[in-house]
Amino acid sequence: LGSPDQRWEMRTGETADGARIVHLIDQSGNYAAEKMRVDFVANASHELRTPLASILGFIETLNEEAGEDPGLRRRFLDVMFAEARRMQRLVEDLISLSRIEAEKYRLPGERLSLSELLEDVAAEIAAAHSPRAQDVAVTIDPDLPEVVGDEAQLSQLLHNLIGNAMKYGRAGTPVTVALGLDPSNLLRFTVTDEGEGIAPQHIPRLTERFYRVDPGRSRSVGGTGLGLAIVKHIVERHRGRLDIVSRVGVGTSVTVALPPADALAEAGVIKG
Ligand code: ADP
Repeated sequence: LGSPDQRWEMRTGETADGARIVHLIDQSGNYAAEKMRVDFVANASHELRTPLASILGFIETLNEEAGEDPGLRRRFLDVMFAEARRMQRLVEDLISLSRIEAEKYRLPGERLSLSELLEDVAAEIAAAHSPRAQDVAVTIDPDLPEVVGDEAQLSQLLHNLIGNAMKYGRAGTPVTVALGLDPSNLLRFTVTDEGEGIAPQHIPRLTERFYRVDPGRSRSVGGTGLGLAIVKHIVERHRGRLDIVSRVGVGTSVTVALPPADALAEAGVIKG
């Protein structure tokens, strides 16, 4: 980048909300994948550096006189634990993202029931978030067709989307989850929350890695900024579609539409 051989041409533009953006275009006119890669590594390193610096700082303080005070020691250890968990979540998401990307062009071969998977995920969420379990209302239409999918990835997709609705929903308002068939016979999974919503100019960018509407809010609810990037890749790998509809002050609805296994078999995409 910025090398003297001028492989990159810079073009500027504006986003819908008037922010200036700079695109780097390579000689064939493509957006610079290289710039995305450099940004990604820089962002990921920054995200890891912050909690790491905090942990090191607390270790240093514990080594000094603060380590003698049991109350302080407890508090510092709690903070260090929270920071280490944050790093762990980020590293797990980075690993997921690179695995999914590596498999992007290989259609998963397993036929499975999304209904059963959703029931399992809903039970896991209820067990992990017992005080809020009653807030998640799940409706699954009967006799839905199977999909072709990677079970672990589809489970992660369900977890990420329901998790976001719980993270960004307003306390005391319900999260509704529905699975059914849409008029064009696609399996349609929708998660709706009654949270603060997302302004329209952010919506096209939410699936970019580390893009957050409110970085402080995302971090305080345990977000890594990678959840929707992971969802997008999983949806693409499964030949599906992702739609985000939101109104500020009203809430957000995220829908994933997936083709049933039989439709893929009829189209010759998979063996029947
Ligand atoms: P994060 O780990 O920050 O939640 P995601 O990739 O899952 O990362 O989401 C990116 C951003 O999209 C979030 O930081 C948040 O600003 C916004 N977002 C995602 N889901 C919702 C939602 N249901 N309601 C409001 N904002 C949301």
